[in-house]
Amino acid sequence: MTQVTSIKYGNNLSTYNGPGFQLTTLDKAIGLARKNSLWPLPFATSCCGIEFMATMAATYDLARFGSERLSFSPRQADLLIVAGTISKKLAPVLKQVYIQMAEPKWVLSVGACASSGGIFDTYSVLQGIDEIIPVDVYVPGCPPRPEQILDGFMRIQDLVAHESLRRRNSEHYKQLLAKYEIQ
Ligand code: SF4
Repeated sequence: MTQVTSIKYGNNLSTYNGPGFQLTTLDKAIGLARKNSLWPLPFATSCCGIEFMATMAATYDLARFGSERLSFSPRQADLLIVAGTISKKLAPVLKQVYIQMAEPKWVLSVGACASSGGIFDTYSVLQGIDEIIPVDVYVPGCPPRPEQILDGFMRIQDLVAHESLRRRNSEHYKQLLAKYEIQ
């Protein structure tokens, strides 16, 4: 009989190791692959977008997390990063981009403007993107430093790693989208 020599519970990957084999669950293996290969779509409109550029550049190097491949096509992206002020006129465009992204998808709201309208409490500025699309993680700051954006990105990775493969088909998720009138 084969003997199990070690059991690991790190990185959300419960594994059973022995001579010549390793076992885990499909959920966890796919979660691990997804979290380390996120393709971000940067929806950057103003100053926070500059901080995101710094996050991509050599010093902070988002590529270390498997996300060097930015996508400017919603159909080839699974992480929407909204960085900057979103005017009410632009809101339908952002929502359209979100709808066009394939499931599973996640949303990172970067900075005070994207998260709450920031200092622009005016008739023309959306007071938070969560008025039109669901948001998974908020990054505070005006602007947030690249370290904060990286931290927000890692919180997204935690969600991705732990997400059940069935979540997107669940009633709870459908109700969440219905709240935003998204089918
Ligand atoms: S949160 Fe501050 S830095 Fe970011 S877009 Fe708004 S005003 Fe600019």
